Amino acid sequence: NVRVRFAPSPTGPLHIGGVRTALFNYLFAKKHNGTFVLRIEDTDQTRYVEGAEQYIIDALNWCGMPFDEGPTEATHSTSTGNYGPYRQSERKTLYKKYADMLITSGNAYYAFDTADELDFHRKDHEAKGKTFIYNWHNRLKLKNSLSLSAEETQAKIESGEDYVIRFKSPQDETLYLKDIIRGDIKIDTNILDDKVLFKSDGMPTYHLANIVDDHLMEITHVIRGEEWLPSLALHYQLYQAFGWEAPEFAHLPLILKPTGKGKLSKRDGDKMGFPVFPLEWTDPKTNEVSRGYKEDGYFPEAMVNFLAFLGWNPGTEQEIFSMDQLIEAFDLKKVNKSGARFDPDKTKWFNHHYMQEQSDAILAEQFKPIVDENLNVIASEAEQSANNDIDVQYIALVIGLIKERATFVHDFWDLSHFFFTAPTAYDEKASKKAFKDDTADILKKVKDLVLHIDDFTVTALQKDIKGWITSNDIGFGKVMMPLRLALVGALQGPDVFDIMFMIGKNETVKRIDNVIK
Ligand code: GLU
Repeated sequence: NVRVRFAPSPTGPLHIGGVRTALFNYLFAKKHNGTFVLRIEDTDQTRYVEGAEQYIIDALNWCGMPFDEGPTEATHSTSTGNYGPYRQSERKTLYKKYADMLITSGNAYYAFDTADELDFHRKDHEAKGKTFIYNWHNRLKLKNSLSLSAEETQAKIESGEDYVIRFKSPQDETLYLKDIIRGDIKIDTNILDDKVLFKSDGMPTYHLANIVDDHLMEITHVIRGEEWLPSLALHYQLYQAFGWEAPEFAHLPLILKPTGKGKLSKRDGDKMGFPVFPLEWTDPKTNEVSRGYKEDGYFPEAMVNFLAFLGWNPGTEQEIFSMDQLIEAFDLKKVNKSGARFDPDKTKWFNHHYMQEQSDAILAEQFKPIVDENLNVIASEAEQSANNDIDVQYIALVIGLIKERATFVHDFWDLSHFFFTAPTAYDEKASKKAFKDDTADILKKVKDLVLHIDDFTVTALQKDIKGWITSNDIGFGKVMMPLRLALVGALQGPDVFDIMFMIGKNETVKRIDNVIK
């Protein structure tokens, strides 16, 4: 029974790297009919940020990957699961027992070195061109329960002296680690330091809490970012020391800058104009607002699809995958070892694709407020009252005609304003090209023709106007260019007959009049 967890620390908004980790966990869980757990790793209270946990939950839900067990009720059920609490701060009292177990079994020890003393050792080593590592080769020269007598140790603890509990990493052993993505990894324990597991303030460090919780929550697969790979040796040893079976591990490759050099950061996004967060985030301390994919107009399906391809690919040419298809195709063994380059243009390509798949009716609901707002602005500039009652069905028809050229809903207005309001200006270059000496004459005739078309459909318009052009041997450009300019204000836009049909006979005539007067 597969159980995986996404274990973010609530220190701020989730970076897309974090969302990618969540996604791969989610896909793996669903693929194996398993359970996707959300665990909040908030033992480091100094880094806790207000609102970050809710942000994480909102982001998972927006992407369509709700957790099955977590700190609040799962969105698709009324339970939180049987392995809670799912916030480490609420499990605080539990960890000490496990730290004590390791002391008793000789796998961990108390250390009393102060921050100043450790700093001194570090600098002293640095001066000699060496790095200070707290482990087997010097621990007997430092201040800890292995170098002090049992009485001294006891006395220090009882007097309330600050201590930490360190893992006793063995000397001269070779560890054989396994990673689903990276294969076998061999590590010489002599290079490992004795990591801190517990502090006298009663808080475990990430390492202890993480291993204890993964064990108690019966996690079968740990899927996380590559930055945790250096911790794998310690985690393996902790499982060994506790006598627990370790889960399987998979460390996901880094997400690289668009240039391919270095890790993707918020700065890259700021510089190149793309978000690195799924949702907009307002920093509670500075009030600084960071952009989000959602607010930037991305569809969650597009985000999920492009994230899936950051480090994974199906081994075929197929690029478009729905969540269900991803679940079906996903395989941790097909995840790459090497970093995945982030390509902001590709994210747009995916969004363009999902735009085409959205129903025009749903898009119309999203576009309507934008239409209303623009019409309001135009009306107030002309000191008129706005007609804000544009029918959403009409908006949906407009969208059907233009969305092929749009990537975002907020692109729609530029592509379609002439369906809602007559042009007030005409593109200069285009006017030179389209308006000739005989243009007014020609457009007058077109207008007469239009006035006499009773059956005002695209087919009728096409047939009558094209027929008239051919039988009078005028040349299509001479008619269609100025006509388009009159209707649109530029030489762009969908088919002229579609536009005429949509805006109707009266409006068509009015716009022709506007240019021949
Ligand atoms: N709390 C860690 C993080 O913020 C979890 C790492 C892990 O998955 O083991 O990424």
